[in-house]
This record gives sequence, structure tokens and C-alpha cells, in this order.
Amino acid sequence: MLNFKISELIHSDIAVQNNINNMPDINSLDNMLNLIFYCLQPIRNLIKKPMIITSGYRNEAVNRLVKGKLNSQHLKGEAADFKISGMTSKEIISIIKKSNIEYDQLINEYDRWVHISYSKGKNRYQVLKY
Ligand SMILES: [Zn+2]
Repeated sequence: MLNFKISELIHSDIAVQNNINNMPDINSLDNMLNLIFYCLQPIRNLIKKPMIITSGYRNEAVNRLVKGKLNSQHLKGEAADFKISGMTSKEIISIIKKSNIEYDQLINEYDRWVHISYSKGKNRYQVLKY
């Protein structure tokens, strides 16, 4: 099934609150489509529970407001943070590690959400905890 919406990765509460247009450039959009095809949609299809993106693409203004790293993969459309109803970050990461889903980095961020990135041809398969 392919039901992911690009708006799920573009929407940002902090951008709306600050009147920032968080529209990606074409290269970031290309990266976001890969992130959806190879990571996010396969995770949604595998786990089959409500999955909410808490942060996807961030332009520089949005990244500054959320105090993201200067070289954050969110700036290139290569990363998304998400939660899944009724599951801990550890449980989510464990399922993804056991699957054949491709990723660059999987990060358990403060046990509150999971950060996943996809970098075409450069995936490192790193699992980290913040
Ligand atoms: Zn992130």
C-alpha cells in the first residue's frame, strides 16, 4: 500500500506558528520521496498502527527554531521523526532492525520519538540513542 502524503513531511507546527513557508526545493523533495518509498511507507505497512510524523522536512528557518543541528538531514529531506501509537521507541527500532527496511540512521531520541534517515547510495545502517 502507498498512502503516505508528502504533506505529512512538510507540515510543521512551528512553521505555521511563525508564518514560515516550509516548502522544499526539488532536491529535498526527491530525497523525501526516497524516504517515503524506502523507509516510512514500509514501516507503516509493516507495523499497521497509527504512525505520526512529528518532524520531517525543515528549511533553515524551521531548523533554527527547533534548534536542529546545522548539518541535520532534515534540512535535505533525508530524515523524519515519528511516533507509533502504543509502541515505545525501543520496540519500533527493534522491529525495523529485524526487517529488510533500508536506512541510514535510526535514532532513539530521548525515548520520545524515533529519527530515521535515508541517504541514497550512502546508507550507514547506524543505530544510535540520544
Ligand atoms: Zn530527527
